[in-house]
Amino acid sequence: MIAVKNSRELGFMQRACAIAAKALRLAGEAVEPGVNTAALDRLIRQYIESQGATPSFLGYGGFPASACISLNNTVIHGIPSQHTVIKNGDIVSIDVGALLDGYHGDNAATFAAGDISPDAKALLEATEGSLYEGIAAAQSGGRVGDISAAVQRYVEDRGYSVVRQFVGHGVGTALHEDPGVPNFGTPGRGPRLVPGMTLAIEPMVNAGGYQVTVLPDKWTVVTADGSLSAHFEHTVAVTANGPVILTLAQ
Ligand code: MG
Repeated sequence: MIAVKNSRELGFMQRACAIAAKALRLAGEAVEPGVNTAALDRLIRQYIESQGATPSFLGYGGFPASACISLNNTVIHGIPSQHTVIKNGDIVSIDVGALLDGYHGDNAATFAAGDISPDAKALLEATEGSLYEGIAAAQSGGRVGDISAAVQRYVEDRGYSVVRQFVGHGVGTALHEDPGVPNFGTPGRGPRLVPGMTLAIEPMVNAGGYQVTVLPDKWTVVTADGSLSAHFEHTVAVTANGPVILTLAQ
């Protein structure tokens, strides 16, 4: 079932999303060579809790931290660790959710640590660009497949691939709600987009093939071919006046 939010509920979403967005921005500003990912996670948790909210991911399905922090060939769900120290040239994907007053906000971005290669920079730009293509396609009256196809086209036109095994999702009183929002698909297919739907649109883009492998820790998802991967995500409300990005930092 797809939950459609009224304006009061969207107000709650907005507040949770603003906290998630600020937490992501603060963590992104702290990304630099020499910093370990547990320190970034701590920063995120402290900010979210200082706002009276709860990190959505902490304990979710047993996840042991407040944010997923994924370096280089890690696609998503990297577990923060004091032993994972960021190096110059790394790309660092951070995924953060915040729960406030019963509603979740969810967002992610990939940050550059120091000087990254031109190839890595191009991957980040393509992934972020594909997110905005997907958001632009989140029009009332359209279909989820419009978003999926827009992301896929943008990514594949640039010679990259979209991860198939993990997809975006509805978000609201649950962190993951219907519908699934794949980053690949066909325009005009899938559930109808109606005002009040809130979607986490989140392209996961690999420089090489789309295949991924889950490591034995049962969380960490890496590219099967070892290629770099990037991840950008916003929580977006479908409205009668077009898509509205809820996860913008104040
Ligand atoms: Mg998400």
